[in-house]
Amino acid sequence: MSTYRPTWVEIDLGAIRHNVEVLIKLVGPAAVMAIVKADAYGHGAVPVASAALEAGASALGVALVEEGVHLRDAGIDAPILVLSEPSPDAAAEVVARGLTPVVYSEAGIDALAQAVTDAGQAPLGVHLKVDTGMHRVGAAAQDVATLAQRVERHGELLLEGVCTHFAVADEPEHGYTEQQLERFATARRSLADVGVNPVMVHAANSAAAIGFPASRFDMVRTGIAIYGVTPGPGIGADLGLRPALALRSRVSHVKRLHRGDAVSYGLRYELGRDATIATVPIGYADGVPRNLGAAGAEALLHGRRFPIAGTVTMDQLLIDVGDEPVAVGDVVTFLGQDGSGSVTAEEWAEHLGTIGYEIVCGIGPRVPREYRS
Ligand SMILES: *Cc1c(COP(=O)(O)O)cnc(C)c1O
Repeated sequence: MSTYRPTWVEIDLGAIRHNVEVLIKLVGPAAVMAIVKADAYGHGAVPVASAALEAGASALGVALVEEGVHLRDAGIDAPILVLSEPSPDAAAEVVARGLTPVVYSEAGIDALAQAVTDAGQAPLGVHLKVDTGMHRVGAAAQDVATLAQRVERHGELLLEGVCTHFAVADEPEHGYTEQQLERFATARRSLADVGVNPVMVHAANSAAAIGFPASRFDMVRTGIAIYGVTPGPGIGADLGLRPALALRSRVSHVKRLHRGDAVSYGLRYELGRDATIATVPIGYADGVPRNLGAAGAEALLHGRRFPIAGTVTMDQLLIDVGDEPVAVGDVVTFLGQDGSGSVTAEEWAEHLGTIGYEIVCGIGPRVPREYRS
């Protein structure tokens, strides 16, 4: 279908490849798994996965079985780790598609083994997840050896990896990541004590991969860094990671208003002087938060910054361009570079009290993605 609304996301696959290469150099000899869950954090799972693999990523990580199936449907045959244990009713699909599940429950392990038997397939590799303190998913450290033995008793399964996940790797001074690393070491010793030595040990997300070299083990699971968004304030700022995503639209309507006029729902933005107000066809249904303007955010026009004026509506918003000459069709950049100016997801996040992750993941499916190599 043709698109008539001039609003789009640009994804720079060259930036994805560059970022993966930077991470591979940084963490080697550890391998890099590119995390492409949530449609590659809004960047598009298939093109990003392909670019990451081209750049040397060894594997992909997804949150959902459905996301793994989507990659397989696109012809991607690299290892794909499903980061949480699939529900038993997904076991047959996991086996059929050759996904690598994380496991941490008896029921989950047994369901996968049964699915392999049913399919009459070769043994399926699984990774055992240890909860070392994030307390989201994973087996308690004291249950890990028993679960590993359960996996090993099932000839249909192969214990390929052991992993954990950090809660505060983005706060290097916190001290808790070191505690989690100690608990992880204890859990791995309990495996070794029963003769289980998985080949792949992995723990680090982007923040840990950058900030905690001791957490890199055999592989890191990097998501946000491959998109060129920092995992936390200042983390990896010296690595030269490049933001891969730009969000742009074009001015659809222009008017001159007068001092004292107020604009948009709630009339919350009142002009202190005469000004030109440009309308841009993008709104909160596209992932531009309703209060972004009120929170102080700006957009780029002609390489210069101008405030987002008043409430962002569902499909449109307003820019106060002051006395700047502006015409219908002029490009407005919400995220990314325009001339020497740039706006980052981290900048929006700071205005809104969130993190860059939520910004890029929030850009809705209504906005078409365009890919540049
Ligand atoms: C999302 C996720 C990652 C990647 O985290 P980033 O901070 O984006 O690098 C790694 N591991 C697990 C288990 C995850 O859920």
